[in-house]
Amino acid sequence: MKILVADDSKTNLAIISTALEQLGHTVIATHSGEEAISEYEKNKPDLIILDVVMEGMSGFECASKIRAMNTEENWIPIIFLSASVDDQSISQGINAGGDDYLTKPFSQITLEAKIKAMQRIAEMKKKLLLTTEELKVLSSTDPLTGTYNRLQFEKSIKEKIATADRQNLTLGLLFIDLDHFKAINDTFGHNIGDLLIREVADRIKECVRIDDFIARIGGDEFVIMILDKDTAHTAEVVAKKILDKLAQPFTLENNTIRISSSIGLACYPYNGLTRDTLVQSADIAMYHAKELGRNNFQNYTNEMNQKYRRQVSLEQELRFALERSQLFIVYQPIYNLISKQIVGMEGLLRWKHNSFGIISPNIFIPIAEECGLIMQIGNWVLENVCQQGAKWNELGFDHFKLSVNLSAHQIHQNSFIDTLNSILIATKFSPRQLELELTEPSLVSFTNQLKTTITKLHDMGVNTTIDDFGTRYSSLSYLRSFPISSLKIDKEFLINIQHDVKNSIIVKSLISLAVNLNLNVIAEGIENDEQIQFLIINGCFLGQGYYLSKPISANDMTNLLMNESKSNINVIP
Ligand code: C2E
Ligand code: MG
Ligand code: MG
Repeated sequence: MKILVADDSKTNLAIISTALEQLGHTVIATHSGEEAISEYEKNKPDLIILDVVMEGMSGFECASKIRAMNTEENWIPIIFLSASVDDQSISQGINAGGDDYLTKPFSQITLEAKIKAMQRIAEMKKKLLLTTEELKVLSSTDPLTGTYNRLQFEKSIKEKIATADRQNLTLGLLFIDLDHFKAINDTFGHNIGDLLIREVADRIKECVRIDDFIARIGGDEFVIMILDKDTAHTAEVVAKKILDKLAQPFTLENNTIRISSSIGLACYPYNGLTRDTLVQSADIAMYHAKELGRNNFQNYTNEMNQKYRRQVSLEQELRFALERSQLFIVYQPIYNLISKQIVGMEGLLRWKHNSFGIISPNIFIPIAEECGLIMQIGNWVLENVCQQGAKWNELGFDHFKLSVNLSAHQIHQNSFIDTLNSILIATKFSPRQLELELTEPSLVSFTNQLKTTITKLHDMGVNTTIDDFGTRYSSLSYLRSFPISSLKIDKEFLINIQHDVKNSIIVKSLISLAVNLNLNVIAEGIENDEQIQFLIINGCFLGQGYYLSKPISANDMTNLLMNESKSNINVIP
């Protein structure tokens, strides 16, 4: 050990120095408090022994000065040396920063014991410091990726805002969310999901400077903070780099995986003056990027904020829509295009708000999906359609199927079949009369659970239709994997079908695809007779659209059914 000793008596200094050297220590001998301080600064000893009574600076004074220079990290034990030790001087010595007392004269054994005890304390203190450091790192980092975690992000953003203010800088905030990450987890399993997240983090690290801040703040959500003079520009450059880097395929355990990301950018002080508003702005911008088809980045704008506020207020209103009976269902008949008879009808949800008026399901269904209300609303629709179907059956109308649109969230629920079964039992509606419409995004993440659900539906006699067919994902493999009954051609393809060569080719191909796969094919959005003729000539015999009938209320539908049955009676002599 390197031990610094201060004693103004030459003899005492010689005695203690010899004793220490005999114990194998290196001694820095000083004759005054002043000299001890200057040697302490030069030599950084492991232990200090100070005589209490010295000419000039006393041992206590010297100890307090040294303690004032000490930090937690370079703390050194101090022992006082004194001829007589009373209670008062003990307390004075400890208050001055000393750790122990040695009374003169002392034996070699006592000296050795005291030094060992001090050594032990110093080692324990060092270990404690290391553990505290490790704990600090652990509590601030994400174990999977080694980037910071949400907790650290929340702490650091405050500090960065303060730095930006002090140094007249701007703070760029990037929110990065992977697109359809859940589908990857579902398809390849969580292990691969974790590997992917780790590699994503590595790629993100390559896109920023070493002093930029990166944190993973959710399963597949990352955040970056950049402090700079002009972060608006830098953040865009970084966002572009990240989009490119993440779009390159990943190879994980022999699987080639492609993903993309959506990034929202917000800049302090322009897009938010507090931590919360800035984070909200980046979040809003990120959702906007998702809405614009994902795989892009968006800078926050005030218009986005207005749109967000509208969404929030719609969301709040939607929470009351059911209990205030503002939701209702209209029915659009599906016809046999040749006989012009009703073969089915589609239940379409409507929301009539007291002040907003009628709101389109295209607007409120996505909100319901996002805020988790879709299950409640979806079940309500199923129950009401089945109830209405049972009423029509009682009136003798049982020659058609009733279609219900399902959200992806509903079909992916484990409990979906049980819920449907209890609705069918409660309403006494036959599963054979029920048709469920799914859109392609619902089927994109093939899970075993989804396959089981659709197979069970098939076994129960419930038909499934792919709605808006051809408008979204082009992966057709689900047509082979799942027992689907029908395809519904989206109305978009029927527009100007007689003259638009592309549309006519698409519709013809979709019809032949369905026919070859032995599926029913239904056209939606029929607005004129030419479309009907085109469809019949090309082999599609079922359809719905404003030309045939707009969606109408259940009562109007009852009248329509009655008129239809009367005219049928008239036809048959
Ligand atoms: P969808 O299932 O593809 O429904 C067809 C949409 O086309 C309906 O719009 C219908 O009113 C409209 N339509 C019917 N014939 C014509 C036509 O000749 N020309 C034109 N231009 N449009 C026609 P709607 O009722 O606004 O519904 C929009 C979408 O909202 C539906 O598309 C469906 O995806 C969703 N939706 C409606 N009700 C529900 C529901 O209960 N649950 C869920 N999850 N989604 C629903
Ligand atoms: Mg539909
Ligand atoms: Mg459709």
